[in-house]
Amino acid sequence: MQEKNNLKTLVRYIKGVGPKKSEYLAKIGLDTIEDILYYLPKRYEDRSSVTAIKDLKPGETGTIQGEIASLSSRAARSGAPIFQAVVADPTGYIRAVWFNQPYLRDMFKTGDKVILYGKVEIYDKLQMVQPEYEIIEDDEISSGKMGQSPPFCFAKRSAGIVPIFSRNNSLNIGRIVPVYALAAELTQRFLRSLTFKAIAEYVKFAVERLPTYIIARQKLVDIKFALRNIHFPLNFEILEKAYKRIVFEEFFILQLALAIRKKGHGPEKAAFGHSMTAGELSASFKKALPFELTEAQKKAAAEIERDMSKPKPMNRLLEGDVGSGKTVVAAHALVLAVQNGFQGVVMAPTEVLARQHFIYLSELLMPLGINVVLLIGGMDAKTRERVYSEIKDGRADIVVGTHAIIQAAVEFKNLGLAVIDEQHKFGVAQRAVLRRKGLNPHVLIMTATPIPRTLALTVYGDLDISTIKELPKGRKPIITYWVEEDKRLEMYGFIREELERGRQAYVVCSLISRESGVGNRESAIETFEKLKNEVFTGYEVGLLHGKMSTKEKDKVMKDFKKGKIDLLVSTVVIEVGIDIPNASVMLIENADRFGLSQLHQLRGRIGRGGYESYCILLADPRTDAAAERLKAIEETLDGFEIAETDMDLRGPGEIFGTMQHGLPEIKFGNLAKDFGIMETARKEAFALIEKDPDLLEERHQLLKKSLYERFRGRLELIRVG
Ligand code: ADP
Ligand code: MG
Repeated sequence: MQEKNNLKTLVRYIKGVGPKKSEYLAKIGLDTIEDILYYLPKRYEDRSSVTAIKDLKPGETGTIQGEIASLSSRAARSGAPIFQAVVADPTGYIRAVWFNQPYLRDMFKTGDKVILYGKVEIYDKLQMVQPEYEIIEDDEISSGKMGQSPPFCFAKRSAGIVPIFSRNNSLNIGRIVPVYALAAELTQRFLRSLTFKAIAEYVKFAVERLPTYIIARQKLVDIKFALRNIHFPLNFEILEKAYKRIVFEEFFILQLALAIRKKGHGPEKAAFGHSMTAGELSASFKKALPFELTEAQKKAAAEIERDMSKPKPMNRLLEGDVGSGKTVVAAHALVLAVQNGFQGVVMAPTEVLARQHFIYLSELLMPLGINVVLLIGGMDAKTRERVYSEIKDGRADIVVGTHAIIQAAVEFKNLGLAVIDEQHKFGVAQRAVLRRKGLNPHVLIMTATPIPRTLALTVYGDLDISTIKELPKGRKPIITYWVEEDKRLEMYGFIREELERGRQAYVVCSLISRESGVGNRESAIETFEKLKNEVFTGYEVGLLHGKMSTKEKDKVMKDFKKGKIDLLVSTVVIEVGIDIPNASVMLIENADRFGLSQLHQLRGRIGRGGYESYCILLADPRTDAAAERLKAIEETLDGFEIAETDMDLRGPGEIFGTMQHGLPEIKFGNLAKDFGIMETARKEAFALIEKDPDLLEERHQLLKKSLYERFRGRLELIRVG
C-alpha cells in the first residue's frame, strides 16, 4: 500500500480526486502531493478587499464585485471586436471593456455575479479596460463562507488580511488569490481547493534540505512556511519571503552543481595543465599592433595571461559588445601559447567567420613567424590531408576553423589553447569534446552577445568572466532611426549619399526569397533584383544568403571587403563577427521581425571605422509591443541593457534557443529579475564547496541528495564540463 506520510503520495489519495481528475492533473505534470505543493501560481490577484463602485478612484487598480446588468458587442473603427459588460453593485455602475476577445460573449450572461479586477478609468463614464474577471458560482456566495450576508461584501477585513488556516474562508474571494496555469479540463477553483487540502494534510512532511546555518545567515523562512504562503499568502510581504526561500533553494542547488563543475576543471587535472609565460614573442606582437589596446582590452589580456600562467587550465569567458575588439585579445592569448611551444585552435560558428578570422590572424601573426592554417568542411581531400598532417606534426601553430575541427579525425601534436568564438552557438557538450581532444587545454570563450547578469551566472557559472565594455577610441556611436514604409525612398536617397562619399552599405532581409516565407515580408533575392536594376543602378550591388555555396559566399564577402561591392543585400548570415570598417550604413527590412539582441548584433556590423554610421530600421510594427522594442533599440547602444530588456520581454529560453542544452531548467526563479537571489545563492554554494568539496559532512547530506535528483543523467556533463 502507498504510504501516506510523505510528499510522494499520489494525488488521488486526496479526498475529492477521482480517476478523471487525477488524469487531468497528470496532464500538467501533477502526480504527487509534492508536485502540487511545488506547482507555483503563475500570478496572484489581490482580492483581499472589495471596493464599492462609488468609492473607485480613476487611475487606481481595484476589485469590485457585482452583477451583470447588460452585455453588448460592437466593432471599433479599425474593425476590431469590442465586448462590453455593465456591472452593478448596490452603490453604482461600471462598464467593463474587452478588445479582440469576441469569445467572451459566450462566457457571460446577464445576471451573473462577477468579480472584476483592473485599472479604473473614466471615459465619459467609469470603466475598466481588459479587467481580470471571475464569475462567481452561486454555492460560494450562498454558503456564506465570507461571514457576510451575500451577495455583496465590501467590508475591509482587518487591514485586508484574511487569516488562512482559521475559519472556513473562501479560497477564491477576500484574500490574495493564487492563479495557476491549467489544462482546459481543470478550474482555478478546483486546484485552489486541492492545493489547500494538500497543504493542510501534508506540508508537515516537507523536509528541510538547507542547512540551518545558511537559513539563519540568509534570514530565510523555513520550507513549510514557504510552501504554505507561496499559495495562500497572508500578505504580499510574506509572499515575497516565501518566494525568495523557494527560489533561493533552486538557485542554490544549481550553483552547487556549478561550483562542483568548476572545481572539476581544477586541481586533480592540474598535471595536464600548462603554465605559459610571456616573453619576446608577445612583446613583438604588441609592438606590431597598428593601434593601442583599450584599457578594457589590456585588463582582459592581463586576466588571460594570469590564468594561462597557472598550471590549472583556464576556463574564461571573454564577453564584449560587438566591435569591442575581442579578436585581438584572443590573438594575444594565442601568441602566448605558441611562444610556449603549444598549438592553438580557434573555432567559429560559420565558415565565413572562420575565414575572416583566418585572414585577420594570418595578417597579424604570420609576420611574427607563426604558421596559421585554415580547416573547414568544404576543402578538397588533398588540402585537408596536408592540413591534418601539419596539425599532427606541429608545423601548424594555429588552426582556425568551424566545428569541423572537433568532428573530424583531427589530431593535435600538443594543443594548449582553444579559443571558441561566439559561444552561444556551441553547447557545453561540444566544449567537452574539444577539451578531450587536447590534453586539457586552456579554454577561452568569446561571445558578443552581452548576457544578462543572472543568466551569465547560470549558463557560464563555472567560468571566470572578463568583460570588455569600452569600445576602441575614435568610434562614433551608431545613429539608429526607426522609420515606417512611407520614408523608404528618402532612405534610399540617404544611402546613395553615403555611397557617393565612398562608404558601403548593407540591406538586411529576414527572408531569403518570397517562396520560402510567409506574409509579405521583403526577401533578399527580390530586394537584390530591385535595388540592382531599379534603385542603385550605377553601383555594384551584391547578394549574400545562407543557401549560396561556400565558394560563392566567400567570393561575395571578399569583394565586399575589398570595396568591389558597394551595397550588400543579405540575410542574417552577416550577423556574427563580420568586420568591414568602411561600411557606414545598414538598412534592416521588417525590423520588427527580429529579436532585440539580434538587431543589436546586426547593427554592430557597422560603425567599425571612424565614420559616422547609421542604422535604419524599416518597419510598420503591428503591435504595441513590437513598437516598444524598436524604440528600445533606437534609444540605447548598450548591448547589456538591450539583453536585459530582451530577456524581460521574451524570456531566457527564446534568447538562447540555440544553446538550449546549456541552459539548465529553471522552474521557480525568474532569470530576468532575481539577480540578487542568484548572487547570494552562488556565494553560499561556492563557499560550501570550498569547505566541503565532496559533500561529506552530515549536515550536507540532504543537499547532496537533491543535487543528484535534479541533475540525474547530467552529472557526467557536470564532471567533464
Ligand atoms: P569583436 O569584439 O566584435 O569581435 P573585433 O575583434 O572584430 O570586434 O574588432 C573590431 C575592429 O576594431 C577590428 O577592425 C579591430 O582591428 C579593431 N580594433 C580592435 N581593437 C582596437 C583598438 N584598441 N583600437 C582601434 N581599433 C581596434
Ligand atoms: Mg568577433
